[in-house]
This record gives sequence, structure tokens and C-alpha cells, in this order.
Amino acid sequence: MRTKRIYLASPHMGGGEQRYIQEAFDTNWIAPLGANVDAFEKVVADYVGAAGAVALDSGTAAIHLALRLLGVGQGDVVFCSSLTFIASANPILYQGATPVFIDSETNSWNMSPVALERAFRDYAKKGKLPKAVIVVNLYGQSADYDPLLRLCEQYEVPIVEDAAESLGASYKGKMSGTLGRFGIFSFNGNKIITTSGGGMLVSDDLKALQKARFLATQARDQAKHYQHSEIGYNYRLSNVLAGIGRGQMEVLEDRIIRKREIREGYHKELANIPGVTILDEQTYGRSTHWLTTMLLDSKRTGIRPTQIIEVLESNNIESRPVWKPMHFQPIFQEYSYYSHTEEEDVSAKFFAQGLCLPSDTNMSSIEMDEVVNVLKKLLSE
Ligand SMILES: *Cc1c(COP(=O)(O)O)cnc(C)c1O
Repeated sequence: MRTKRIYLASPHMGGGEQRYIQEAFDTNWIAPLGANVDAFEKVVADYVGAAGAVALDSGTAAIHLALRLLGVGQGDVVFCSSLTFIASANPILYQGATPVFIDSETNSWNMSPVALERAFRDYAKKGKLPKAVIVVNLYGQSADYDPLLRLCEQYEVPIVEDAAESLGASYKGKMSGTLGRFGIFSFNGNKIITTSGGGMLVSDDLKALQKARFLATQARDQAKHYQHSEIGYNYRLSNVLAGIGRGQMEVLEDRIIRKREIREGYHKELANIPGVTILDEQTYGRSTHWLTTMLLDSKRTGIRPTQIIEVLESNNIESRPVWKPMHFQPIFQEYSYYSHTEEEDVSAKFFAQGLCLPSDTNMSSIEMDEVVNVLKKLLSE
């Protein structure tokens, strides 16, 4: 067994981070906030072409604040992609609202406009339109927004774009995170760039972002004494960690190029094996290919994703199943779900057949060849 583990996606520093951290130390702006936070917000907002950005301590916090800003509260309905990480949906429960989960379409794996339309029709009939739709961009690729935006505009419901996995991706010339009323990013350790933990809320609505800053710092009223009139949170990013973020933004494009090479390598070596499909880049924009994902038709490959994960693990290589859809989660059992069509549950199929391959930008070409060789041997047996 190899001694050095190959990871799915691990932190990959560029070298410039330490300079910004040192600045924070030199000026003693360890906390609160400070120049790194301001600069990190500006560089991310400029990069995606949003009017403004608010740096937060997680992507989850950013989604929570977006829902607060949209007035989501007790008893409200929020539509959300089902095939995603739980962090997309938990903030709906934080607000005492009711999630309704929406299936994926087959091309990008992201929200199905067909399912979304059925959900809108049903909830319009009930007189209970959602307060927001959370659309997730999975594995580095944007959802196909035109049909989603058309529906949301028709019903006058704002989109929160969960771009935690798609920083740097684009859709028809617009950057991921700028398609909805609010966009959110995550800088968790496994994401394409990381601050060890962190997130960002972006929007063109500067007034709303000002309110987000207020809510993220305990909602302290303008008064000499400590006075509070509504519920706030302690959600801001530390000035030290924002320094890591500034350095990471300088290498984001390098990371995207490498992620795309990794996906290209897997595609070249594996896509022609019968029963194997590697998720493609859609024609409407650039995917970062944050994680390369693969579908297996086990009847043709003779092997299931879980078996592949086990064999890779025995070689000290990390791989993962595709996200378990929210409508299969014990915590969300009581909530409604709209599958792609009445007959076809697309995310259930991706969950059953999919896996995420090691996509670590720290991985060398030799290491990647090792992974490919293990996979080829398994899939040709
Ligand atoms: C990582 C992730 C989040 C949450 O980000 P944190 O920074 O870990 O809170 C939200 N949504 C998706 C789809 C993610 O992958």
C-alpha cells in the first residue's frame, strides 16, 4: 500500500498567503475584521463582477443570512436542490421554514426546471409560493439558469445561488454566484480555494449586504451602549483567515486549470470503458471541475461504486460517493420532493451510480496515473 495518501481535495496554498497573514500580525489587526477582510471582499466581488461581498466564517452562514435578508421565517416554504450537501438546506430549518426538495436534470446534475415548474404550479395552487429558491451548482459546474430564472421571474421568487462548489465557473458569460439575488461561496478546507474555514455572500444589492454585515456582528444598534432590537449572529470572518483568502485568490486560476486537466485525464483514460460516464462540461459555460465525478452502469462494469471506493481506500486513495440526496436524509423525511418527472428520480440514480474521484490539485501526474491504473484494472475485470 502506498504510504502517502491521495486525497479527494486538500488545501493547496500558493505561498502568498503568509505575506497577508504577516501584515495582520505586523499591524496587530488579528481581530476584529481589518484590512485583509476588506481586501478579500473586494477581490472576490471584483472577480465575479458583483457590486459587493461580505466575508463570513462559513458558506452555511452565508446561506443563512441570504434567507434572513429575503424575510424567510416560521412557516414559509423554500425550494432547494435535493442533490447537495446538507449545508444548502439546514439554514431553511434554522429559520423555522419548510424545505421542498427539487430533483436534478441529467446533463449538469443541477436543478431540473421540469421539476421546479411542477413544484411552482402545485404551490401556487395552494397559495403558498416559496420565499426563495436555493439553486446549487454541483462539483464546479453552473446550473442551467435560463429556464430556472424564467420560472422564478414568472412567480416572482428570488434565487439564492449556492456556488460553494463553483467559484470560478461561468454561465453564458456571467460568473457563478451572480445569477441570483444572492450568491454564496465557501472556503472550507476541501473547496477549490480555502481559508481553512470561511464563506462569502455576494450581491448587487449593497443595502442588503450592509444589513448582512449588521446581522453578522450581533445586530448591534447604533447606540453608545450595547443595544439590540433583533436576532443577530457572530458570523464574520477573522482578519487572519481573510489573509489566507487573499493569497488563495491569486492562485485560483492555476487551481482551475489543474482541476480541468485532472478531469481531462480521467476522461481520456476511462470514458471509453463500457458503462463508465464522466460528467461533461456543458456548452453554456466553463466548469472548474472542482471534483471529477463518474457514473457507473454496474450491469455493464460488473462493479458498484462502493466496491471501487473500498479498493481505492485499501490503496490509501480517497474517493467518495456522490452527495446523498436531501429527500433520502432521515432529518428531511417529512418534507415534499419533486422528482425530475413523475417516473424518473434523477438524483436517486446519481446517488446509486456515482462517485467522486480524487481531484486534488496537490496530486502529481505520477500519483494520478496510479489512481487511473487501479480504476482501469477494476473496471476491466
Ligand atoms: C461546502 C458547501 C457548503 C457549505 O460551506 P461551509 O463553508 O462548509 O459552511 C454549502 N453548499 C455546498 C453545496 C457545499 O458543497
